[in-house]
Amino acid sequence: MKTPIVIAIDGTSASGKSTNARLVARKLGFVYVDTGAMYRTLAWYCLQHGVDVQDPKAVAEACRRWKTTLECVEQDGLRAVRLLVNGYYPEREIRTAETSAAVPHVAAVPKVREWMKKTQRSCARFGPLVMEGRDIGSNVFPDTDYKFYLDASLAERTRRRNADGVQENLAARDQRDSQRSAAPLMVPLGAVVIDNSGETPEQTSARIIAEFERRRGARE
Ligand code: C5P
Repeated sequence: MKTPIVIAIDGTSASGKSTNARLVARKLGFVYVDTGAMYRTLAWYCLQHGVDVQDPKAVAEACRRWKTTLECVEQDGLRAVRLLVNGYYPEREIRTAETSAAVPHVAAVPKVREWMKKTQRSCARFGPLVMEGRDIGSNVFPDTDYKFYLDASLAERTRRRNADGVQENLAARDQRDSQRSAAPLMVPLGAVVIDNSGETPEQTSARIIAEFERRRGARE
């Protein structure tokens, strides 16, 4: 299969991945994919169905059985992919502190990661993508030429999360995500590392677009 155009944006929690990925997707007319939302949806589903998120076998079984669909919706000029469970998109439920605490456990299960990788790769059918997550450049689309890794100081990231009205221990979540054995959070080979502490999203997204265009031009 021809490699689709994928801009992979990985990075730590609250490093501005979503904001920047959306801005880049909107500017380029690409489809935005939030893979964190997919892991959050599985964590929420497990909590809803009394599945112990600390039990990898039970989580893998839930992932094997749940009934999901992918859809591509357009909202305010942004085309975005959503994962629905039984036809429902749990937009608000997946952002609670309870779901955030549960998600690194489900994300560490190898069978879950296999399922997510297959599902996320299938998003290429919707068109060129801007996909954000923790393992997009290292594992989901390792062949893409367009890899970015975002980070910012812990103080700045905590401030951003608090401004969204969410209190959580970001350092603990990053540590879990970096230390798991299945597709851990890391700087992918060939990624541009951007520390965006003190930058506006307009500045960061402009840097990403400029580098994407430079690399795309160099390939033609
Ligand atoms: O990006 P977001 O904070 O919504 O991600 C929630 C969690 O989902 C992460 O902390 C991580 O445990 C998991 N995740 C992952 N791989 C991805 C995206 C998210 O393991 N590609």
